[in-house]
Amino acid sequence: MSYTVTLVPGDGIGPEVTSAAVRVLEATGVVFEWDTEPAGIVALGTHGVPLPEATLASIRRHRVALKGPTETPIGTGHRSINVELRKTLDLYANVRPVRTLPGVKSRYSDVDLVVVRENTEDLYSGLEHEVVPGVVESIKIITAKASTRIAEYAFGYARTHGRKRVSAVHKANIMKLSDGLFLDCCREVAKRFPEVRYDEIIVDNCCMQLVLDPSRFDILLLENLYGDIVSDLCAGFIGGLGLAPGANIGERGAIFEAVHGSAPDIAGKNLANPMALILSGALMLDHLGEHAAANRVREALNAVLLEGRVLTRDLGGTAGTTEIAEAIAKQVQST
Ligand code: NAD
Repeated sequence: MSYTVTLVPGDGIGPEVTSAAVRVLEATGVVFEWDTEPAGIVALGTHGVPLPEATLASIRRHRVALKGPTETPIGTGHRSINVELRKTLDLYANVRPVRTLPGVKSRYSDVDLVVVRENTEDLYSGLEHEVVPGVVESIKIITAKASTRIAEYAFGYARTHGRKRVSAVHKANIMKLSDGLFLDCCREVAKRFPEVRYDEIIVDNCCMQLVLDPSRFDILLLENLYGDIVSDLCAGFIGGLGLAPGANIGERGAIFEAVHGSAPDIAGKNLANPMALILSGALMLDHLGEHAAANRVREALNAVLLEGRVLTRDLGGTAGTTEIAEAIAKQVQST
């Protein structure tokens, strides 16, 4: 069996971490055909647009993509490719497992939670305008349809993964209508999953509780903006962005990518930690039904972490991106 997967190297450290992930995924023996397509600043240079039609068409055709980060200009320029991809392909569920990894120095232990973030609306709808000079509006869109769908995903995930609790994270004390609607939808869905505990927590308190003791959370169910921010916070519990994987899931496709961005400060220097994208690749293997290969990748990565000899700078080591890929790939091949 072979899988055709769209590979989007992206910007900054993207090409380095995607080649590392490809090296490890191929070491499993699962056969991939990679359809490499550009997106981001790199595509703007070569194709005149940050998200070429051919890239979208490839993902639509193959229904699965492995993606490096893409850069988004701050305060000006083109809209985020990620937001556009997720909306255009209706990849409504952003799933980011946050689990303590062996051998990684962190102030936190036993973290095992999953961020389930709505991926298509909220303040990321891109509806912004200037009312008069000096006054702008950014419109937050929350719909019952998208809120119900993401809540169903979170509870369904709890059921299939044996998780016990879903916590809806909100600010409905202030945004009574929008976050209130989100909560109403979550409560309705919760009734259909009586075996899963449901509770609610205000986003600011959630951040404080997370920092005090992340192990008390199980599945966090959030709107788009809160989910984005809380994801990076949670990455800090397990050793940083170099270790935090993610998936964007829809009915007709899925894109696997790390939580981190294009890290321009370390791009092109063989310094990036590819583990986050390698773990995203393991999520992709699970999605393809290749669970044994996915577990081999995770176990190999854990073994490299535990040994502690080949580590990138963010984890206190001196190894380069390519050395990490080689070490994990060799470990995969030996199992
Ligand atoms: P970032 O995640 O790129 O970097 C934040 C910090 O973490 C930097 O110090 C960076 O060096 C470090 N870091 C990130 N990934 C790392 C890795 N794999 N190994 C070691 N260190 C790593 O966040 P940023 O600087 O806020 O954003 C840079 C660009 O990335 C922006 O244009 C932003 O829009 C984009 N971005 C893209 C995505 C995506 O494509 N999914 C996600 C987030 C940010």
